[in-house]
Order: sequence, then C-alpha cells, then structure tokens
Amino acid sequence: MCYDYKRLNNDIKILTENYPDLISVFSIGESVMKKEIPCLSAGNGEKKLLLIGSHHGLEYLTSAFLMRFLANYTVRLITGSRYFGHDVNALFKKITLYIIPMLNPDGVDIAVNGIDITNPYHRRLISIVGIHSFNQVWQANASGVDINHNYDANWHMIVERPAPSKFGGPHPESEPETRAVVDFVRTSDIDMILAFHSQGREIYYDFDGMTAMRSEEIARRMAEESGYAMVQPTGTAAFGGCKDWFIKEFGREGFTIEIGSGKNPLPMKMLDEVYDENAKLVLAAMEEI
Ligand SMILES: [Zn+2]
Repeated sequence: MCYDYKRLNNDIKILTENYPDLISVFSIGESVMKKEIPCLSAGNGEKKLLLIGSHHGLEYLTSAFLMRFLANYTVRLITGSRYFGHDVNALFKKITLYIIPMLNPDGVDIAVNGIDITNPYHRRLISIVGIHSFNQVWQANASGVDINHNYDANWHMIVERPAPSKFGGPHPESEPETRAVVDFVRTSDIDMILAFHSQGREIYYDFDGMTAMRSEEIARRMAEESGYAMVQPTGTAAFGGCKDWFIKEFGREGFTIEIGSGKNPLPMKMLDEVYDENAKLVLAAMEEI
C-alpha cells in the first residue's frame, strides 16, 4: 500500500496522541486543492533543523521515511536509549526538529490514487498528463507546477506549460506549497534544511558553485554515515530548488538527499532497505548542526 495523504494523517494522529508532550503538529499552509500541509516539531533547542519530504508526487517513500524516523527518535527519547550510538536526549535539548513530511500532498495523492472523474480538477489534470499514467510520471502539484523548480534561485523556464514534472510555474513562489515553506523558513530562523527526494543515493550540497560555510564538511559526514555519494549538480537539478533557494537567501547549509535507488516510484517495501542509512544521515546532521 502506497503512502498517501490519508495514511500520513493517520500516522500523525497516532504519534501526536501517543506522545503529546514530545511532538506537536501545526499547519504551514494549504495546497492547491486546499489540503493542510502539516509540520511536526520535536525538541526545544536553539538550533533549528528542518526536514522536508515529498516535494514530488512519486517520491512518497520520503514521507514514509520521515514519519518512521520521528517515531523511532521519539521512542528512544522515552526509553533513554542511544540511537545508532547517538545520545538522543542531548539532541532533543540542542535541537528543535521540524518535519514537513509531505510538502506536496496533492501531487502524492494524484500519483498514488489518480484523479476521480467527479473531482473538479479531473479534466485539467487529464489534459496535462496526456497519454501517460499518473502513477508513472506525476511529480507536480495540482496545477502542474514542479514545486522544486518554483523557488527563487536562478529561476527560469525549462518547460513552458503545466506538465507532470519540470514546469517551474509562471514565476518564482507562484505556488501555495512553495510559499508555505518559504514563509515558514523566513519566520522560523531555520539553521539547516535537508530536503528528501528519490532516487540516486546522493547528497547535493551546493548551489551554482555557492556553499554555506560548513556545507561540504557536513555533506562529507552524512556521506560517510549513509554510504551516499556527494554530488555537485548540473543541468536541470541545478536551480530553482529548495536547497538552492535556502543557500542563496540565507547562506546557510541546505542539502538535497536522494534516497534509495531504482525507478520512481520506489516500492514501499524499499523503506526497510533505505531506513537505517538515512536515519544515520539525519543523526549525523543533528550532531553537526
Ligand atoms: Zn524529487
């Protein structure tokens, strides 16, 4: 069973009901189809780390990973046991951890469930997807805009009209999902962002030759922990993305993490395979922040 918005909300409900003193949830805004975009937080430290999943519809394995990570982190907090050798109680005191597990809930639901004929977006989305099927190609939001090409960082058009992927929108920050995250980051004084995508087992850490002070050092530590490769992007991956904007606007450490390997959508059963390496990667970032 794929990880859609309904399943996400079910997991959020379970976590926040079981651990009300440790985990809180709030909305950072609404998607095109008016779904609330949830953000979870844990810890009350001075350093602020933001983890983001599912910028892209087919990449919902990143949402499942982030929710499982938060659950396991919380259990270690309660039992006081170490997690992959890390003292999670110390991390909880040092860091306010924010997790936006599914930034693009419409895109995930379109990729997972298709679009019902009674849905007012049906006709338009069918015309955008054309001969392809949603569960093979859909990465964009419900307006056919690729959110990870919609940030204000060397933004320019590579695809000129709404499409299943790579259309950056009519202008930077045109989409409600993009605005929700940039508004949240601008008002929350975030120190570091890890944006999770699939796939490739790679860590991207620069923007247009620009890095923050410790980007390379932290990327190296995450690479050591996870076995993922450090990569400098070229071509379409090189602009308009979340980490690009964060590095450009704040000069702070922003990363894209490409989890797993294979063809999107990665199967849900791959979560077990990619879990440990990515949990270690996140814990490394928490130590380094
Ligand atoms: Zn992606």
